[in-house]
Amino acid sequence: MKTLYPVPEIAIGAGRIDQIAGDVAALPGSPARVLLVIDRFLSQSGLADRVQTALKPREMTLWDEFAGEPTAAQIDAAAALARKNKVEAVIGIGGGSALDVAKLVASIVAEPASVERYAFCANPLPSKSLPAICVPTTAGTGSETTLTAIFANAAGKKAWAWGPELAATKAILDPTLTTSLPAHLTAATGIDALVHAIESCTNANRFEANDQTAHAAIRLVARHLPAAVANPADLAAREGMLVASCYAGIAINNCGTAIAHNIAHALGSIGKVHHGRAAGLGLRASLPWSLPASTSAFAAVADAMGGPHDASALPDLVDCLIRKVGMKVALADELPGITPDRLAAEMALPENAAMRKSSARASTDDDLRDLARLVLSAT
Ligand SMILES: [Zn+2]
Repeated sequence: MKTLYPVPEIAIGAGRIDQIAGDVAALPGSPARVLLVIDRFLSQSGLADRVQTALKPREMTLWDEFAGEPTAAQIDAAAALARKNKVEAVIGIGGGSALDVAKLVASIVAEPASVERYAFCANPLPSKSLPAICVPTTAGTGSETTLTAIFANAAGKKAWAWGPELAATKAILDPTLTTSLPAHLTAATGIDALVHAIESCTNANRFEANDQTAHAAIRLVARHLPAAVANPADLAAREGMLVASCYAGIAINNCGTAIAHNIAHALGSIGKVHHGRAAGLGLRASLPWSLPASTSAFAAVADAMGGPHDASALPDLVDCLIRKVGMKVALADELPGITPDRLAAEMALPENAAMRKSSARASTDDDLRDLARLVLSAT
């Protein structure tokens, strides 16, 4: 099935956040009451006050009661507050988690049910949703353009919801909001965007109409990520990375990810390795194994990264970029006692089956063990 899903309106520019009152006014019904979902540290840095001042005389309800991966209970509490204050639109500002909370609240607020009801597409999302404006402050997840949102369910397990109801109404890409991100997080989130783009145009779901967006994202990461890491205040590089991450989000929204994300999710569950770094290390370890299944697609990726049109050049290009942005490749010290068998077993769990299945190359359980060994033995 080849589908290019709708893309929200995307506003781009340094300082663009200060025009957010106009964005809210332009939403259907010109909402008078808004919920702001924002990362706690951004809220405390004064950004929430800045947005509230910009939005006056509209009423703004603040929600910053989450850290890291949001839980179902936190999302339900935010939705309850939105119902109580009769909000008519939701703004999400922050990393992927903040944007996911904003999208989920906007989509579930019309019904009293817990977000858990909609996990894994068990039930359709309510047909009526609020408009949502997403403002990413990391260049990585691309959540502002995807129809997916991730949260932790009551059992503490990673859960996801999916549906057109989760689409943001508008995305605002303001590079001034990303300059305070530490170098290691700029690197990890940027590499995550690269892996999204690469997997979406090389996996079994790929199709040409989506490749263009993925290749554009790859070119932007190759060009801008080293500068964004080396010089955090470089607004051109920061803007380039926000656009790259947004394009990569569009690309995975249409075609999904693959084996590197299978590895990343397993590493995230076992060892709490940052998702972006885990995805980068997963890609680095799995590329030589994946290449034979899709040499022309991987050759186009090598080309987009600025190398020759040759799939065999890609592992070195990816390895060089990962090292250039200072990402630590060795993992073993951080995962004491984790054997390749343990990691492979995590990769084989049903919740990771879709990523394994969409990979360009079909994998046996022995393949998973070999890939796990490669990830854990990297130096
Ligand atoms: Zn990812």
